Amino acid sequence: MKIFDTMTRYKEEFVPLEEKKVRMYVCGPTVYNLIHIGNARPMIFFDTVRRYFEYRGYDVTYVSNFTDVDDKIIKAAKEEGVDASVISERYIEECKKDMAGMNIKPATHHPRATQEIGGMIEMIQKLIENGHAYVVPDGTVYYRVSSFPEYGKLSHKKVEENQSGLRELKVSGEKDKADPNDFVLWKPKKEGEPYWDSPWCQGRPGWHIECSVMSKKYLGEQIDIHGGGEDLIFPHHENEIAQSEAVSGRMFAKYWMHNAFLNIDHVKMSKSLGNFKTVRQISEQYDLQVLRLFMLSAHYRSPLNFSREMMDGAKAGLERILTAMDHLREVLLSAEEKPLSPEEQSGLEQLAALAGKFEAAMDDDFNTADGLSAVYEIVKCANTTVNENSAKAYAEAMKQKLEVLLDVLGILPQRRQLSLDSRVEALIQERQEARKNKNYARADEIREELAAMGILLEDGKEGVKWKRA
Ligand code: AMP
Ligand code: ZN
Repeated sequence: MKIFDTMTRYKEEFVPLEEKKVRMYVCGPTVYNLIHIGNARPMIFFDTVRRYFEYRGYDVTYVSNFTDVDDKIIKAAKEEGVDASVISERYIEECKKDMAGMNIKPATHHPRATQEIGGMIEMIQKLIENGHAYVVPDGTVYYRVSSFPEYGKLSHKKVEENQSGLRELKVSGEKDKADPNDFVLWKPKKEGEPYWDSPWCQGRPGWHIECSVMSKKYLGEQIDIHGGGEDLIFPHHENEIAQSEAVSGRMFAKYWMHNAFLNIDHVKMSKSLGNFKTVRQISEQYDLQVLRLFMLSAHYRSPLNFSREMMDGAKAGLERILTAMDHLREVLLSAEEKPLSPEEQSGLEQLAALAGKFEAAMDDDFNTADGLSAVYEIVKCANTTVNENSAKAYAEAMKQKLEVLLDVLGILPQRRQLSLDSRVEALIQERQEARKNKNYARADEIREELAAMGILLEDGKEGVKWKRA
C-alpha cells in the first residue's frame, strides 16, 4: 500500500510500526455547533481508510478527539447563558448522531480535552523542564520554537527569525513572548471562563497540546498515521510534532495524511465565512449515504466542490447500487444450486479482476474515486449477467463481493428508510438553530414545512415538543 505523506511529499510504501497493526489519530471537531459537511469530509474519508485497513487484515486503533474547550464554545455558552460544558455535551451528542447517519464507525477512543487536563499539565511541565517551554509573568506558558530546530519540517515553512513586534498582540502575556513564532501551551483564565489549577496560573490549555497528549495516552509515543484537513498542517500539526518529539525524542507520526477542502462555489466551506451546510440539513433531503458517496467520488487530496448536481449524481449512483443488490437478493430467493455455466465461470474471473482493480485503487493512496468505479463495474456485471436462470453460487458470489466492498466504503447494502421521527427531530433542531441565529424567516418556514407533514409544535419551557395533528 502506498500513502502520500505530507512530510516527504511522496507516496511512500506503508510499513506499520508493528506488524499488522495500525495506530491512527485524526483531529476531530470543535464542538460549539452542528458539524458542517466540510467537517464531514475528513470524518468520512478517514473512516474509509480505517475500514480499508481492517479489510486488509490490520488491527486498527483509531483515535479522534472532541475539542470541548475553546473560545468559540465559551462564546456560545455566554450567548445562551449556560455553562460551556452544556454546549459541548450537546454538540458531541449531535455530532455522534450525524456520524451514525453517515455510517462512520465510532472511534476506538473519542477523548475530550477537558477530561485530559492532567496529562496536558504533565507534558507542559516536561517541556519546561527540558528547555522547550517557558513561563512569562502573567502565567502564560509558551513553547519556544527556536528550541526545536526541525520546526517547519511538515509544512515546509521556514521559520522567520526574530520578527518581534511585527505581530498584533492578541494574547495576554504576548508582550513577554520571546519570539513571535512561539505558541501558547497554557493561558490564564479570563472572567467567566472555565479554568483549571496548574503550577503556573489558573487557566486552560492551548489547543495544540491536546492532540499531543491524547495521541500519546491512547496510542503511545509513536503512531503510524496522523490525519486531518489540510488547514491543520500549519500551525496545528507542526506544533504537535514540536511538542511530542521534544518530549519523546522520537519521531511522532510515520505518515501524515491531509484531505483537501470541501468547497462551495469554489470557496472553502467554513463556519467563519457562513457558507456552510450542516450535515443535519443535508439529512433532510438525502440519505446521508449519498453524502458519503459524494465525498468518496473524488480523491481525498483533490478539492471537492459541493453542488446539488453532484449530490443528485451520487444519489443516482446509490440508487444504482441498491437496485443491483435488490436484484441479487430477488434472484437468490429462487436460484438453483447447479454447476456454473462457462459464461458464469468467466463472470467470476471478471469479478475477481474488478475486485483486484478496487484493491489496486485503494492501495494507491486510497483512490476512492477509482475504487468506486470498480464497484459500479461490478454492479453493471451483476445486472447484466445474473438472472433467474443463474446458478445460486454465481449470484451469491456477486452479492458477497459487493457487500464486502460496499462495507469498505461504508455503504449499507440495503435501503434505509429515514424514520419520520428522525426527520422531524432534525427539522426541529434546525429550527432551534435558526431561531438562535435570529433567522426567523427560516424558523417559520420550518414550522410550516412540519405543519404540512402533519406535525404540530409546542414551544415550552423544557424545549420544543411535537405531536401529530
Ligand atoms: P474544526 O472543527 O474547524 O477544528 O475542524 C474539524 C476538522 O474538519 C479538521 O480536520 C478540519 O481540517 C476539517 N475541515 C473543516 N472545514 C473543512 C472543509 N471545508 N473541507 C475539508 N475539511 C474541513
Ligand atoms: Zn489535533
